[in-house]
Amino acid sequence: MSSKVTRLRGMYDVTPDQVWVWQKLEDIVTSALNQYGYKEIRFPILEKTTLFHSAIGEVTDVVEKEMFTFKTRKGESISMRPEGTASTVRAVLQNGLIFNDPQKLWYNCPMFRYEKPQKGRNRQFSQVGAEVFGFEGPDVDAELLLLTKKIWDRLGIKNVRLEINSLGTADCRAAYRNVLVAYFEKHFDVLDKDAKNRLHSNPMRILDSKNPALKTVIAEAPLIKDYLSEASQQHFKGLCDILDACGLAYEVNPKLVRGLDYYTHNVFEWITEELGSQGTICAGGRYDRLVEMQGGKPTPATGFAMGLDRLVELILDHDLWEFKSNTQIYLIKDKCTSDAKVMALAEQIRAVLPELYMTMNMGQASFKSQFKKADKSGAQFAIILGEEELEQGVYSLKALHDRNFGQKRFSFDELIDFLSQL
Ligand code: ATP
Ligand code: MG
Repeated sequence: MSSKVTRLRGMYDVTPDQVWVWQKLEDIVTSALNQYGYKEIRFPILEKTTLFHSAIGEVTDVVEKEMFTFKTRKGESISMRPEGTASTVRAVLQNGLIFNDPQKLWYNCPMFRYEKPQKGRNRQFSQVGAEVFGFEGPDVDAELLLLTKKIWDRLGIKNVRLEINSLGTADCRAAYRNVLVAYFEKHFDVLDKDAKNRLHSNPMRILDSKNPALKTVIAEAPLIKDYLSEASQQHFKGLCDILDACGLAYEVNPKLVRGLDYYTHNVFEWITEELGSQGTICAGGRYDRLVEMQGGKPTPATGFAMGLDRLVELILDHDLWEFKSNTQIYLIKDKCTSDAKVMALAEQIRAVLPELYMTMNMGQASFKSQFKKADKSGAQFAIILGEEELEQGVYSLKALHDRNFGQKRFSFDELIDFLSQL
């Protein structure tokens, strides 16, 4: 039966039959980040709209078209976060976290963008991001990539490739920008409306266009690599050298520019062919200028954002994981057993074994129906409780899958001892 009120377009529910994929995914990803010494940071869903305008850039898809922005009762413009870097920078500055102190941080939270919903593109989606402040060398860029590769391996994701590029420093970009504007001016007629709008405000963004009509003009455009300073080339080479030494394969894509304005030096994307056109599952790079642009002391910074929704899709579409129930014990009670006694026993067991996953049916049901439910729950064992046995303190434990185990009778202490070994 469908309810009268439906959910918003581009938003979705995660039902209990799929939530385990999210839990396992988040656990693997965040454990890897913790293992590498990154610390979690949390920030609000709502921020002042000006934060995103200044940190992401006025002339970007995100700020121009995709933000959920509205006015408070007092008339202040606020927005739901469309990404995490701007908020992280605001938070580290506001809390004085990077005052003479480097930081390696991560977050895991929903983001909101008013996009055209399609496979792999939702209006609420989750990103795990890493942001590192205070290290200027390519070693930390390499660490982010090695750590991400470790995550793919642990998730069991195989067909994913790494593309990298360098966008150089502000000076390199200024030189390149002039050449690029001149080139696109020569081809003004083939540009679409967005590209024409961006020609002078943000010409590199044209390279990031998804419009097939611009494919050829973009393919023949001048490349940033020919305008990189010696120092920028060395920074990029430093990254390549570490990746080579660690055996991490990559492709240099000289056309790779990230969609957001604040990137410098090394940028990267992890792409899979298995998700169709929305194949980028993780993207990031260095953004050495952003902290200063936001009013902090000049601080080198680098990071990535990983789209969890696309990873969940990949895992489900390709049956990468097999479901394993958490439930260990199902309590089954005889019709004449008193509920009060059963509940008291369950509470006693839970008090001594807080990590045991134990459930039971509520209300009255036949043995047959309870066993069916126990099977469905995925529990390993059932504890069968009759009035008389409860009186005598004897508990029958039945293995639900292991035929060799059969059924055994325990005292309370023996039962606890057995359950604590599970
Ligand atoms: P795209 O070019 O696909 O729009 P983007 O450059 O806007 O991506 P980023 O802002 O770099 O994406 O976000 C990093 C990652 O977050 C993406 O690679 C993707 O995995 C995920 N992501 C971004 N937007 C969405 C969305 N609307 N729905 C689901 N996942 C998304
Ligand atoms: Mg986008």
